[in-house]
Amino acid sequence: MQLRKVVLIHPGREGRIFGKATGSPYTLMRLASLVPEDISVEIWDENWEPLERKFHELGPNDLVGITSKTLAVERAREFAEMAHDAGVRVVVVGGVHATLMPEDVQPWADVVVTGEAYRTWPQLIQDFIDDSLKPRYDDTEWASLKNVAPISDRVIEMMNENRRYWTPMLEITRGCPRGCSFCTAIRVSGKKIRYRPIDEVVDEIKRRRLQRFFLTDDNFGLPFTTNPQYIEDLFKELAKLPLHGWTAQVEMSVAKRPDLLRLARKAHMDKMFIGFESINPANRKELGGKSNGVAEDDLKAVEAIHEAGLGVVGLFVFGFDEDTPQTIFDTWDFIKNSSLDSVSMTVLTPYPGTPFREVLIQEGRLMDKPWRFYDTAHLVYYPKKMSVGDFEKAYDYVCRKAYGYPAILRRGLGSLRRHALREWPSKFMGSFGTDYGYRLTYDWRYETGGRLLSAWKPSTRRAFA
Ligand code: SF4
Repeated sequence: MQLRKVVLIHPGREGRIFGKATGSPYTLMRLASLVPEDISVEIWDENWEPLERKFHELGPNDLVGITSKTLAVERAREFAEMAHDAGVRVVVVGGVHATLMPEDVQPWADVVVTGEAYRTWPQLIQDFIDDSLKPRYDDTEWASLKNVAPISDRVIEMMNENRRYWTPMLEITRGCPRGCSFCTAIRVSGKKIRYRPIDEVVDEIKRRRLQRFFLTDDNFGLPFTTNPQYIEDLFKELAKLPLHGWTAQVEMSVAKRPDLLRLARKAHMDKMFIGFESINPANRKELGGKSNGVAEDDLKAVEAIHEAGLGVVGLFVFGFDEDTPQTIFDTWDFIKNSSLDSVSMTVLTPYPGTPFREVLIQEGRLMDKPWRFYDTAHLVYYPKKMSVGDFEKAYDYVCRKAYGYPAILRRGLGSLRRHALREWPSKFMGSFGTDYGYRLTYDWRYETGGRLLSAWKPSTRRAFA
């Protein structure tokens, strides 16, 4: 069959913020780079532009691939229907949700792709041309990250990332062995950490002309302990590049390596996103050994990272089985007394394929909610030690407090003060932008158009006193 064009679709939710989309569709950029140069390829990102009006361009000789995050899978299905209505015969669905729950996308996808797909995707394209497509392509091996799907110059030019996106994404490592009960990393990325060759990382940064990036790595912090030589070599190379700043998700154990933290600063890293998850020590068995949930230890780790000149974004999750409304209020007290630069507060979410979801199913505590509620801001199960109403009131209360402008201003100024005055213009957006982004996301998730936070009322906590 003649293959006219490959179109890869990224269903979006946030849209543009101040004229740019938030994060670039990194995996699709790599898959697009595997399309042979003689075949036309496009990436359609709904966060960058509305897509509905583009479907009339498609026809039977086009191959459409849609990536499926769990929270956007209903939107992915709508796009599959639009493609079929336009005459497309083959809609491929891959991504995290297809990997974790292929049976959920099978009824409306012509082809389902599970796993990382770096090997199966080129085969699928060839099978389209040969008219020998199979309904399912499973990539079951964890590919070496050496020379895997380097982003092509054609894709770099097509995406125009630096103009369209606030935060280009980059991968350096993949996988995490921690096995936290609520995390999909083991199923999606594997439990062994894999590393990209440092020269390939540097080459990609140069070719994409990146000045800022966010690492997609599951846990960039664990290699500080398990593979410090790699981290040291990497930082020395990144230090030579004219970067403005970059960020990554790490774990608190990085605080034990102040030498590497100082090197990270020299390598232009400016913030670490740390999964504190819970300050309730009773939840520690859910946290895969990455934290003991003891607040004083957490504060010491933040101080050590600050001493190296790096900012800390605290990631907190509510709704573990040992949590009560008091845990949520205590977390807000912890945040207030900390010097965190930004905070993310999310609701524990039972994604497919996680041990936590299995427990909920066994105990009959999973609600029958559409996937779009799996956005880490809505409760989709019945908590063990509090009612749904009490949880929601407490969660709403701390979000309004933490994302109110006074709190954002206090944390942002604290963050800015860690930099020399001459650096303030370049650090201003980064100091306030993360919190502001979380504020917008929280507002957006509740579809309030900003009204929820501005209607903040301070009385909720007293109702629980
Ligand atoms: S440490 Fe982070 S990436 Fe690793 S399993 Fe836990 S939540 Fe997932």
